[in-house]
Amino acid sequence: MQIDILLIGQGLAGSLLAWELHRRGYRILLLDKGLENASQVAAGLINPITGQRLVKQAEVETLLSAALNCYEQMARQFRQGFFVPLPMLKILRSQKERELAERRLNEPGYGDFLVDLIDAPPGVNAPFGVLQQRQTGYLQTEALLQQLRNFLLSQGSYRQTDLQYSDIRLQPALQWRDISTRHIVFCEGYQALNNPWFGGLPFQLAKGEILSCQSHQAMPAQILNFGHWLLPVGVQRFKLGASFDTQQLDTMPTPATKAALLASLQTVYPADQPHEVCQHRAGIRPTTRDKQPFIGSHPQHTRLHIFNGFGAKGSLAIPWYAARFADYLQQQTPLPVACDIRRYYDAHFSA
Ligand SMILES: Cc1cc2nc3c(=O)[nH]c(=O)nc-3n(C[C@H](O)[C@H](O)[C@H](O)COP(=O)(O)OP(=O)(O)OC[C@H]3O[C@@H](n4cnc5c(N)ncnc54)[C@H](O)[C@@H]3O)c2cc1C
Repeated sequence: MQIDILLIGQGLAGSLLAWELHRRGYRILLLDKGLENASQVAAGLINPITGQRLVKQAEVETLLSAALNCYEQMARQFRQGFFVPLPMLKILRSQKERELAERRLNEPGYGDFLVDLIDAPPGVNAPFGVLQQRQTGYLQTEALLQQLRNFLLSQGSYRQTDLQYSDIRLQPALQWRDISTRHIVFCEGYQALNNPWFGGLPFQLAKGEILSCQSHQAMPAQILNFGHWLLPVGVQRFKLGASFDTQQLDTMPTPATKAALLASLQTVYPADQPHEVCQHRAGIRPTTRDKQPFIGSHPQHTRLHIFNGFGAKGSLAIPWYAARFADYLQQQTPLPVACDIRRYYDAHFSA
C-alpha cells in the first residue's frame, strides 16, 4: 500500500498530528503498541501562568487559541466535548508569593489570565490568599485519544503494532512491511530514547504520578493549584497530582509518592476528608533539556522526522506545533527555530 505519511505513536503528539494531516488530505497510517501511555495518564491541564514565579507561558495567546480551535473542531466532528474550561485558584504560599501575585495583576499582558486576589474558599487553608486565574481548564485526554483511534481505524489509518526499527527500509524507497511511504514521523514520547535516528537528542525525562479519588463531599468549583493540584472531574470525584521526578524513570506507581500527594492535599484542603483513592497511575513525560519541543528532520535521512518533546504541556502546545509541522511538510515552511532539531545537528548527529 502506498501512503504519504507513516506516524509512530498514538499519544497526544501522534494523534493530534495525524488529525491535522488527515484534515489536509494526506494518506496517513498511525501505528501504536496499544499500551497505556503518558497522554492517557495526564490530567490534561491547561494553565497559561505557571510556576512559583507566576510566569506567563511564552506565546501562550497563540498556543491557546490553536488548542481551543482544535478541540472545538474535534468536538464538532465527534459530537463530544473534550476540553473542559475550569477556573483555577492558585493558593499563595508565602507573603513573597502574594506580593508577586499583586505585581503580576498590574503587569501588561497578564490581565487576560489573572482575575484578582481573593480569600480562600471554605475548607481551603490559604493564609496568604488565593490568586484567581482564568482561561484554564483540562483536556479529557483518554476520551479524545479513544475517539481519534476509532476514527482512524474506521478510515483504515490505524494499526496496533509494536514497530521494530529493523523493519524500516530506507532504500531504494521508504518502506515498512507492506507500506511504502513518503515520510515517517516518530511521535514515540519518552520511548524515542531507543530510536536509532533520534535517540541521541537531549531528553530530560520526568516521571509523573497521579491519583483519582472519590470524595465524600462536594468538590470546589475550581482547580486548586498548590504546587500540586486538585482537579474536580465530577460529583465528588477529583484527580490529585502530579509528582515530577527526573531520577526514577519507570512507569510504576509508588506508595511513597501516593503518600506525599495525599499529605500535600491535607495541608491545603483538610476539609476533603475522608476520601478514597480509586486509581493510582504513573507515566513518563517527554521533557527536554532546553524545555523546547524536538521537531524536524534527520540531517541525513531527510524523510525521517521527529515530533516530540512536549514535556508537561502537551495539551496546550501540540495543536499549534502540529499545524507548523504540517506546513513544513506541505510547503517547506521553515519550522520555528526554537523547536527545530537543527539546533542539535552538530552536537548529536555528527559522524
Ligand atoms: C502524571 C502526568 C501528568 C501530566 N499532566 C499533564 C497536564 O496536566 N497537562 C499537560 O498538558 N500535560 C501533562 N502531562 C504531559 C503529557 O502527558 C505529555 O505532554 C504528552 O502526553 C506527550 O505525548 P506524546 O504523544 O509525546 O507521548 P506518549 O503519550 O508517551 O505517547 C507515545 C506513544 O508512542 C507509542 N510508541 C512508542 N514507541 C513505539 C513503537 N516502537 N511502536 C509503536 N508505538 C510506539 C507509545 O506506546 C505511546 O502510545 C502529564 C504527564 C504525566 C505523566
